[in-house]
Amino acid sequence: GQEASDAPPMQVFKGLPVSPGIVIGTVLVADEEVHHVTRRSIPPAAVPEQLRRLDEAIATSVAEIKRVFERAQKEMGEETAGIFRFHIGMLQDPNLVRQIKSMIEKDLVTAEYATDQTLASLADRFRHAGDSVFATKVNDIDDLAHRLLTHLSGNQRRKLAHPDENTVIVARDLTPSQTAGFDRSKVLGFATDLGGMTSHTAIIAKALEIPAVVGCQTLLRNAYDGMPIIVDGDKGTVVLNPDEATLAEYRRFIEQRRLYRVSLEDVTKLPCITLDGVHIHVLGNIELPDEVTKVYRAGGEGIGLYRTEYLYLTTNVEPTEADHFKAYKRCVELAEGKKVVIRTVDLGADKYTQSREETPERNPFLGNRSIRYCLRSVPMFKRQLRAILRASALGPVAMMFPLITSIGELRQAKFILNDVMEDLDEEGLKFNPDIDVGMMMEVPSAAIQAESFAREVDFFSIGTNDLVQYTLAVDRINERVAHLYRPTHPAVIKLIRDVVRAARRHDTPVSCCGEAAGDLEYAMLLIGLGLRTLSVTSSVIPQLKRFIRSVTVQQCERVARQALTLDSDVQISTLLRDRARKIVPEAFDGRAAE
Ligand code: PEP
Ligand code: MG
Repeated sequence: GQEASDAPPMQVFKGLPVSPGIVIGTVLVADEEVHHVTRRSIPPAAVPEQLRRLDEAIATSVAEIKRVFERAQKEMGEETAGIFRFHIGMLQDPNLVRQIKSMIEKDLVTAEYATDQTLASLADRFRHAGDSVFATKVNDIDDLAHRLLTHLSGNQRRKLAHPDENTVIVARDLTPSQTAGFDRSKVLGFATDLGGMTSHTAIIAKALEIPAVVGCQTLLRNAYDGMPIIVDGDKGTVVLNPDEATLAEYRRFIEQRRLYRVSLEDVTKLPCITLDGVHIHVLGNIELPDEVTKVYRAGGEGIGLYRTEYLYLTTNVEPTEADHFKAYKRCVELAEGKKVVIRTVDLGADKYTQSREETPERNPFLGNRSIRYCLRSVPMFKRQLRAILRASALGPVAMMFPLITSIGELRQAKFILNDVMEDLDEEGLKFNPDIDVGMMMEVPSAAIQAESFAREVDFFSIGTNDLVQYTLAVDRINERVAHLYRPTHPAVIKLIRDVVRAARRHDTPVSCCGEAAGDLEYAMLLIGLGLRTLSVTSSVIPQLKRFIRSVTVQQCERVARQALTLDSDVQISTLLRDRARKIVPEAFDGRAAE
């Protein structure tokens, strides 16, 4: 109910953002001038404080006038001193004091304003009484008003000289010396009614790196000492009495900025946890064993994709089992106890095989590539599998098959793997018989059938590079169709969603290791779709971690839900772009527009 709440309503003021940064604090008004008393409203709850201030100013004034009176008695004689007796009498006149107090209570204004108004109208009445005796009293009343206001504002000046923690100064305007004179350890921000982009308040606030908004026009008359206030020096917004939702939103902005101030170097050592406390595992993709170090230096938690075909591509001769083993061993050693996911060779298409074919394939990406190539070159495949298994005895190793398109293919690959295990057993060679065996999810047929695959593998790794190519029928390396290569295509997103759902239902771990996982906007979508492990090139790990540390899973989920309602890649790209900039503006230089 409205009547039950004493809290004044939230008010938003638009001004000019002259010094960047966001702060949440409490108002301290720096405008109590004896000669210019602004009408300022106070909340009902602030009435007692104003009454107390008034009593205090009256008491101080009475004590002061008594001292003046005593001196006047001695120096000027009883008659002249009588003027001051009149002053004391007025200040002790219960009617006058009651009048000022009832104005504070009824009109909800400051003690300064009630004093100024009450005494001014009293003076007016004397002035118009037409009696010369009364007319001289006008001066006395002005004198009294001046004294009371001096004490009231003196009390404010003392507060301004010793502000509380987290103070935001609100004023009509501030002189440069005022602005520079505040205790910087206590004053968080400035907000004024007057002023432009190049006003002195602006220049000095910027130099002091204190957030400031000027030109708020009507802020002062609504502000009151102790009111909660937000100064958004980035957007030029001032919020008085922010409600809980607004406070929460701004707290989040502030927290994000704090997190974003972490350098990319420091973030490498920090855990990759979202603002709402969910751990997102960021792993590295590597082509060569020595890159493990690079991944760790960038803050990766392990190796999510080791593309072993590079063994072939660097030497351009068929590697031996020993060559394979040497590379994997090095990898496992460098990984120092963290998991390495070794992918069996993904040769074919653009990689290696074409140049050796007598008749090049017409559609190499749809041809004898990857797992298909391996299943047709079993001795070669077995050499690699032996080496991977042997490496699994040295540390936590998982393996996965690329380009699986059908259950039959997967079973065939697993059958060969079992064969190799038996061989190693017979030979007495060590390996981990419980090694995790996973598959890449990078062909639509597999994604659509994810439920079935989930029953037969230990994990999925979504490869968006190929999933996009095969879903959209767009050659991933053909520049003529590059504009059609869109990871934000709704069909791709739906396939990813379905894979993640199937994986969840079967408790099958799922990660994403395509390039898109390293794109901040797309990563947000992936997290929203339920992915908790992303494997990316080492160079993007720090910024990806920093970004993830600035979002909540809830925000990502909302983005994903929205994305799933859209039916064009352009719309989804725009959505991701806008949302990411809105949620983590720091990641994109400057915050999103309203
Ligand atoms: C993918 O297809 O997304 C993937 C990670 O594998 P590659 O880029 O090696 O084909
Ligand atoms: Mg691939």
